[in-house]
Amino acid sequence: MKFYSTNKSAPEVTLAEALLMGQAPDKGLYLPRHLPHLSQAFLRTASQLTYPELAAKVLSSYADTFTEEEMLAICTDAYDFDIPIEHVTDRRHILRLDRGPSASFKDFAARFMGRAIGRLVARENRELLILTATSGDTGSAVAHAFLGVPGIKVLVLFPRDEVSDRQRKQMTTLGDNVAMISVDGKFDDCQALVKRAFADPDLTALNLSSANSINIGRLLPQSVYYIYAAAQIADIGNGEKVLICVPSGNFGNLMGAVLAFKCGLPVEKFVVATNANDEVPLFIESGSYQKIEPSRVCISNAMNVGHPSNLARLVDLYGGHLDETGQMLKQPDMAALKQDFFAVSISDDLTRKTIDAAYKEHGVLLEPHGAVGFAGLNQYLEVHPEHTETPMISLETAHPAKFPDEVRNITGVEPPVPACLEGLEEKPEAFDEMRVDYDDFKSYLERKYR
Ligand SMILES: *Cc1c(COP(=O)(O)O)cnc(C)c1O
Repeated sequence: MKFYSTNKSAPEVTLAEALLMGQAPDKGLYLPRHLPHLSQAFLRTASQLTYPELAAKVLSSYADTFTEEEMLAICTDAYDFDIPIEHVTDRRHILRLDRGPSASFKDFAARFMGRAIGRLVARENRELLILTATSGDTGSAVAHAFLGVPGIKVLVLFPRDEVSDRQRKQMTTLGDNVAMISVDGKFDDCQALVKRAFADPDLTALNLSSANSINIGRLLPQSVYYIYAAAQIADIGNGEKVLICVPSGNFGNLMGAVLAFKCGLPVEKFVVATNANDEVPLFIESGSYQKIEPSRVCISNAMNVGHPSNLARLVDLYGGHLDETGQMLKQPDMAALKQDFFAVSISDDLTRKTIDAAYKEHGVLLEPHGAVGFAGLNQYLEVHPEHTETPMISLETAHPAKFPDEVRNITGVEPPVPACLEGLEEKPEAFDEMRVDYDDFKSYLERKYR
């Protein structure tokens, strides 16, 4: 299986190369040249498989780099936690992706990548510096996933004022091969620093690799849980369609869903819910794309993204070309996009009201990101009441205990703290601090890692 770049001027590569490189040399993002087909026979059996079995089968079809046995070993080791599907009403469900070691859905991809890249590095006897920008949750998922993996060092950049105390401590208390920089700026600034470092020929010797949502290794594992959940709530083997609602920031999670759909998962519609960073809902409505600079600060902080990298992939899959600077070089098929996606922007005010209502009406405890998704699905059903009987899922992408103040203030409930978040208060933190300045960042990298 070969992977091409959305900017179309870099050579095609194998999955192993795409995993190690992250971004393509032409600054585009990798996508699989051919999409594997999920046959009806396979979809019929999907609900009988364990999560690691399903993941190994789906992921093996992309990767000749690993044997099926190796893939099953990777997935069994990576997915050793619960993946609850919570009942809200008869047809409506919440897929809780918050039970991994860092309590966000980012664990699904990060744990796969940690193990896959760890094996590749060991096989080739290489060393790697994983450089990642985080809006809150990627950093801790990646740091946990690569913690202690031989041959690999991790450096995470996070925006100082945009991550919660708990999110920060989840990253800064690990130590070992994992280091952090607190940046006096926004997520987009962190991402821009990281992207520039990747493109900098002076830094080639550092063997940089990325693990944020520009890496294809993030997307493939994120297609599995859509198939898993759909198989549990609908007769997908006989073509029954599901409604899927994804709270979105950088659009990596949604791209996992879109890949599953393009491989044959029967989907009625994707409801795409953003916070006040509404560049994608506006684009789908108007056909004109305008990134938001600087990105708007919302309580669903992991979705404060003003120019989502993965939009380039979505546009590519619909026949267009969006370059890394946000220029729409070729317009995608807007009619097809409108057919497949219903996109809404949810305000902080409505996010809070939704947390309140979901708890009062259904006893469901949400945090701000999941609430954006829940509200997005509500809005879709208001416009399309004919789909109330369609099996539907909205995603809860983080554990409510990561946002205890917000959840407590709104619902009066203290979210139970999962084991992975316990005892963080007492652990010592370590991180460096930096202004948004590429030259400072570059000399830091050269000093510390050369
Ligand atoms: C990263 C993140 C999101 C956004 O996911 P994207 O793939 O960037 O769209 C949503 N919720 C939480 C809790 C996250 O950590």
